Amino acid sequence: MKKFALVGAAGYIAPRHMKAIKETGHDLVACLDPNDSVGIIDSYYPNAHFFTEFERFDRHLDKRARSGEGLDYISICSPNYLHDSHVRFALRSGSDAICEKPLVLNPWNIDGLLDMEKSTGRKVNTILQLRLHPSIIALREKIQQQQPKQKFEVDLTYITSRGQWYQASWKGDEKKSGGIATNIGVHFFDMLHFLFGDLQDNQLHFSNATTASGYLEYQHARVRWFLSIDEKSLPAQVRLKGQRTYRSITIDGEEIEFSGGFTDLHTMSYQHILSGNGFGLEDNFVAIKTVSDIRNMQPKSSLAHQHPFIA
Ligand code: NAD
Repeated sequence: MKKFALVGAAGYIAPRHMKAIKETGHDLVACLDPNDSVGIIDSYYPNAHFFTEFERFDRHLDKRARSGEGLDYISICSPNYLHDSHVRFALRSGSDAICEKPLVLNPWNIDGLLDMEKSTGRKVNTILQLRLHPSIIALREKIQQQQPKQKFEVDLTYITSRGQWYQASWKGDEKKSGGIATNIGVHFFDMLHFLFGDLQDNQLHFSNATTASGYLEYQHARVRWFLSIDEKSLPAQVRLKGQRTYRSITIDGEEIEFSGGFTDLHTMSYQHILSGNGFGLEDNFVAIKTVSDIRNMQPKSSLAHQHPFIA
């Protein structure tokens, strides 16, 4: 049975990690979060130690390691800008890391982590859960069979309404979350690279605190993308039905259905990691460079490649 610790245990995504550790038959022994709203731990691991101070968490892990009870993995569910620091702590403590998306905010942060993997001999695993989605895997196989052909024409639209709290939290602070394209988009940009190969062009057409839109060209696709957390961006027919989320991906005009099958992807990610097949640092490079470049671009409109939701 492998031993885990969890950083960021009071947050939204942490229970998926607790569940994944449970469902894969392993043990969560320690949790850290400066926020103590962590009653959820009782549903999974009531005996886990809990710390609100990093130093006490560090002391606990150090004591365990010195008594031969060291951890195998530290799972990281903290805000995005803290990931690289928490990954370094995991590796230095002699554990492998399992890090939430986005691994880091900028590609050069990955270089530092690669060095650290070498010097500690430990591994960084990342959650790229869409790569494990059965419909995405099936689509990738279909696309690979159809090559070589002209590039596919892809429209990606994802609107996931968020309330006022979003902008008041770390998620609304670009320095902490990376902004909309990073925080909401990185899943999809990784999926596009996984489906369509190397990235060849990256344009930003519109960007504000709630919405971003642009164009990405891959080896095998031209993609117009639109991401928003603003419910006013929802198509009228979706809003009338009272829905707050709209997700659409079309390839050559045909809608791709992958709305189901999302819930167990963390457990599936853990299964892959535990069998030594986790997605490592290099797997993240293209998507992290994509979002970092988007963050540092000035938006410019483009008649040729603009997403239809940008008026
Ligand atoms: P959240 O704000 O709900 O949770 C973050 C937690 O980290 C909070 O409880 C906060 O108190 C804690 N925290 C803050 N500073 C810390 C520190 N120094 N040390 C330890 N803990 C600290 O956010 P969330 O939505 O749970 O997101 C957490 C991470 O998971 C983010 O990186 C996010 O991008 C990612 N995420 C992934 C998915 C997915 O589908 N894979 C979905 C949502 C979020």
